[in-house]
Amino acid sequence: MGRKPIVGGNWKCNPAEKAKLPELVANFAPCAATLDKCDVYVCPSNLHVGLVYDKFEPGIMVAPQNCNFTGCGAYTGEMAVDQMVDLGLKCCLIGHSERRGEFGLPTPKESNELMATKLAYILEKGLMCIFCIGEPLPVREKGLEATIAECVNQLKDIVPILKALEDKSRVVIAYEPVWAIGTGVTATPEQAQETHKALREWIAANVDQKTADEIRIQYGGSANAKNAPDLSAMPDIDGFLVGGASLKPEFADIVKAIV
Ligand code: PEP
Repeated sequence: MGRKPIVGGNWKCNPAEKAKLPELVANFAPCAATLDKCDVYVCPSNLHVGLVYDKFEPGIMVAPQNCNFTGCGAYTGEMAVDQMVDLGLKCCLIGHSERRGEFGLPTPKESNELMATKLAYILEKGLMCIFCIGEPLPVREKGLEATIAECVNQLKDIVPILKALEDKSRVVIAYEPVWAIGTGVTATPEQAQETHKALREWIAANVDQKTADEIRIQYGGSANAKNAPDLSAMPDIDGFLVGGASLKPEFADIVKAIV
């Protein structure tokens, strides 16, 4: 059985006004008709998750953009997966480069080790996880080998977790070259494909063949309705993580390109 594509929208810290939420939710409605062919999720801002989590068409998953590493309690400013379970959420995204600190934000870097702890916590609570990885521009400029080394560095701590995971569709790797996020610069289909393929080969060698065959690897970085058809024609690209275009009706066209 082939891998089912998956497309997600990352609203980041948008919109500014809650009055805009119904319009953004409505952009996702057309995707409900093809959920048998393509999984869809949306990552609203932390503040908005509670306002929209039950407003989407059934089957469209709401995935918070982060979680803490352990549970409820004295974790100011955090969200626990236990709370997500209670809301009925099925998915959580972690490791976005804007949280890992790739843009040099004055927030603490989220380490690879912490990501592994969070992933284990998410899976233990029964949710799916979107696990973001990707290389910054200076690494990409050194070539494919350096790019893969950087991505592998972000993946190596989760190898035992992936090995033990029975249903490989519960973890989705979102490969997002940092230089393509929010820049309007997209990796070419060939460039994205060779990276996805190399990552899959690394997973085959370091996790196992079953995981490599079954795990979905999304591409993220200025994906839009125009570039989605060519990118999604690549054999190792299993969908998209979409930032800017997920705030527009265009999101549904990106899903259409892959079904
Ligand atoms: C993202 O935020 O994960 C992303 C890929 O953003 P954009 O599509 O705007 O580059």
